[in-house]
Amino acid sequence: MKAAQIPGPGADFQIVEREIRRPGPGEVRIRVQACGVCHSDVFTKEGWWPGIEYPRIPGHEVAGIIDEVGPAVSGWTMGQRVGVGWHGGHDNTCRECRRGDFRNCQNLKIPGISYDGGYQEYMVAPVEAVVALPESLTDVEAAPLLCAGITTYNALRHSGALPGDLVAVQGVGGLGHLGIQFANQFGYKVAAIGQGPGTAVLAKKLGASVYIDSRATNAAEALQKLGGAQVILATAPSSKAMSELVDGLGPNGKLMVVGVAAEPIEVTPVQLISGSRSLQGWASGTAADIEDTLAFAELSGVRAMIETYPLEEAAKAYARMLSGKAEFRVVLTMSH
Ligand SMILES: [Zn+2]
Ligand SMILES: [Zn+2]
Repeated sequence: MKAAQIPGPGADFQIVEREIRRPGPGEVRIRVQACGVCHSDVFTKEGWWPGIEYPRIPGHEVAGIIDEVGPAVSGWTMGQRVGVGWHGGHDNTCRECRRGDFRNCQNLKIPGISYDGGYQEYMVAPVEAVVALPESLTDVEAAPLLCAGITTYNALRHSGALPGDLVAVQGVGGLGHLGIQFANQFGYKVAAIGQGPGTAVLAKKLGASVYIDSRATNAAEALQKLGGAQVILATAPSSKAMSELVDGLGPNGKLMVVGVAAEPIEVTPVQLISGSRSLQGWASGTAADIEDTLAFAELSGVRAMIETYPLEEAAKAYARMLSGKAEFRVVLTMSH
């Protein structure tokens, strides 16, 4: 089979022929049909995640068909349409797992980091990472929902915002364009925060009732004029932009951080104390959370905007994702 692998930290993609591995106990093999290219693939490409073994095949937005079921697996069948997202497996034995908090497993596995991910024609995954795909979503449509989709959906549904509340989505990109749609479908009043006037039309089409151009206006002040945000979903990877939004929160408001950036977010104790505001991060969710995301997408019509590339063009697809110019999720497709 064909695979796109990273031979070492910081190295370029290689298209290689690999043996198709058989699934072991508790695993299934998936004939990959589509795999999303996520910004977090940078951890694998650049070797920023501790302990990655190379060569490694990235990819944690995997959609396909089960083509072999390993020993000691029940509930999954050959030919079933499935996906795998960021949550690539948990140990069932650590303190968090014993409390049912699988999302925060101390030995969480991540496809494309802990083991080979979806930039290949066949992938083996542990069953606790496997997600059933609904009929009405194509493989390409499902792929971005397995990481970008669930991240925004799960963060918002656990944010404490109620229908009618003002919820701001910072960034109209790979995560943000999904966050705006989910927030709108959850019944929030949605303020999209983007850069430049050009994004306004799209943001409104996606379900924002207000568009704030952070280049032209002070976004925090604009949010306060609307009464202050109950939640700000921070999706664009800019700690500076996130810091500037804290003052846009209303009483008991929460800055929900899902965009990954290396620099510190700056906030003073007074900013948090006045109005009892809080700052929270959110990471993805379990296979069951992903199934909730897919079911909600099916119900509500939430879909990612997608550009597709063949697996052979993984390097080009990855570069396109990194450029920030893709509209908005990049997905690899397999020709088999
Ligand atoms: Zn991701
Ligand atoms: Zn665990």
